Amino acid sequence: MSANALEIRQLVKRYPNGMEALKSVSLEIGSGEFFGLLGPNGAGKSTLIHCTTGLARPTSGEIRVFGQDAVNNYREAREAVGLAPQEINLDMFLTLEETLDLHGGYFGMTKAARRERSAELLEAFSLTEKRHERTRTLSGGMKRRLTLARALMHRPRLLILDEPTAGVDIELRLELWQYIERINREGTTVLLTTHYLEEAERLCDRIAFINHGQIAAQGTIDELAAQYGVSGLEDAYLELVGRQELSRAHLDGGEL
Ligand code: ADP
Repeated sequence: MSANALEIRQLVKRYPNGMEALKSVSLEIGSGEFFGLLGPNGAGKSTLIHCTTGLARPTSGEIRVFGQDAVNNYREAREAVGLAPQEINLDMFLTLEETLDLHGGYFGMTKAARRERSAELLEAFSLTEKRHERTRTLSGGMKRRLTLARALMHRPRLLILDEPTAGVDIELRLELWQYIERINREGTTVLLTTHYLEEAERLCDRIAFINHGQIAAQGTIDELAAQYGVSGLEDAYLELVGRQELSRAHLDGGEL
């Protein structure tokens, strides 16, 4: 029996200040899918990711990662999850190699396995030459790559990428896409949040729109477009956020 990579049922998250960031969210991501979560700032994306990765405790609802209860039995579930957070949270006093080694150790990898895996990832992300340098000396793009390498260190079956290409230049963005597409083809399930619609369009099999803590729509790009009666992802998104007047189709129609 192959379980879904992620199953979220009626997830509610109310912060102590009373803010209801998630209002009964349900979502299923199949094993091997490349899934996008899109929505404006404040929609609840980070809260959903934090609940899934054990960084925030849901108020109610269920989260299962490959069938494991990620709320009450997080230790089991977290093995399957790799998170590249939006905020780069590297320890600035560790070297690159130490950063990866520490993470592998946290997941119980043997020393030999850690050494082999970190060498492989440093190479894949063009960071080998920097391996003995402290992370604080890295450029922003290199920090971004190291964060992703760290998320992949324990070979997670579900990779969660929270705006991995925010502020990243075009070459690096293409390089990251290529790598992520490859590991997805090799079987890793990916959950991506991004503000770049073209990124979601190129990479994602299915997309969910989230707004005001609720899933407003989900499906393939064609399904989303059909649902909003428009012709592409950008226009569907503009319908979601109520900014149809920004549609390029609208502008091209000469209505200005
Ligand atoms: P997104 O990632 O889509 O920008 P978030 O999940 O960060 O959205 O935020 C959803 C809502 O919850 C926002 O209104 C935000 O202000 C609020 N929020 C997020 N974190 C906290 C917190 N720790 N305490 C109170 N409110 C929060």
